[in-house]
Amino acid sequence: MSKKLSVVVSVYNEELGLRQFYQHTAPILQATSKNTGWDYELIFVNDGSKDASLDILREFATADEHVAVINFAANRGHEAAMIAGIDYSTGDGVVCMDADLQHPPESIPGIIEKFNEGFDVVSMIRNSRADAGIFKRITSALFYKVMNAMSGKTKFENNSSDFFAISRRVALVLKNDYRERVRFLRGYVQSVGFKKTTLEFDASARVAGESNYNLKALIKLSLNAICNFSDVPLKMGIYAGVFSLFAAFVLLIYSIVQYFLGTAPNGYSTIIVVLCVMFGVLFIILGFISEYLAIIFAEVKNRPIYIVDSIITKDGEELK
Ligand code: UDP
Ligand code: MG
Repeated sequence: MSKKLSVVVSVYNEELGLRQFYQHTAPILQATSKNTGWDYELIFVNDGSKDASLDILREFATADEHVAVINFAANRGHEAAMIAGIDYSTGDGVVCMDADLQHPPESIPGIIEKFNEGFDVVSMIRNSRADAGIFKRITSALFYKVMNAMSGKTKFENNSSDFFAISRRVALVLKNDYRERVRFLRGYVQSVGFKKTTLEFDASARVAGESNYNLKALIKLSLNAICNFSDVPLKMGIYAGVFSLFAAFVLLIYSIVQYFLGTAPNGYSTIIVVLCVMFGVLFIILGFISEYLAIIFAEVKNRPIYIVDSIITKDGEELK
């Protein structure tokens, strides 16, 4: 029996570039299927788009027997959309990619080759970012540095992206065992183990529309990622405490020496500095504890990761 590739594409307000994405990607998938013998399915997950994205997707699904659409009842975010696509997929390999052509479908034959060689996880590494400014590059590099320093055994690929490919067994692990509400999907993919490899790709600029990730969303993502893979921030209090005690000891010696030398200690500045440092440290630690508390709260509530409104099957049938 021939193998099958599932391509999962998350879509949020992409009406401007969606047709271009499909017209570019479908022929590549067809040609790849012919060359490699891998059948394919193209699963779009409409993450509560407020524009005409769903109508466009419906068109694709009606005209193309390879296309299915999962339509969310509300916007749940990029990761939830990928998770839904992975849950629904039936292929021997699953590729997750963006709908804005920043993840080139030209990489897909290479991915299939890796699957044929027996790899289970293919992390796609950006080797350039046509659209990314210096700020995004620096923060992204810094993020992976901090993550790797704090996350113990798990090591993350620098410049890895939400463009990745996983085998059926990894997809099943994600589907059955990684159901956290607060999550870092990219991290899970890299930490499940199995046979891993990387492929490079050139990220191009978005074909149309605007990025949906603003600074706030990126900070949220980074914080979730760190708290999900590391307990170092929780333990920061001990280090901060030891350091503060040491600083206090030095200040004490300094004051005593000054007392005996007869030079009056400059009390005001000492008090201000100590207060500021102490409160700073205290609030940072408190903030991190609240962050973990919020995660525990979200998990305890046990709400669904996503809610499906309707599914358009590959036969073009719409199930409510
Ligand atoms: N996306 C989504 N839900 C969201 C935000 C984004 O499904 O709430 C999709 C979006 O349509 C795109 C992908 O996730 O296919 C990446 O988003 P975007 O291009 O805005 O992010 P960037 O590439 O700038 O990091
Ligand atoms: Mg993008």
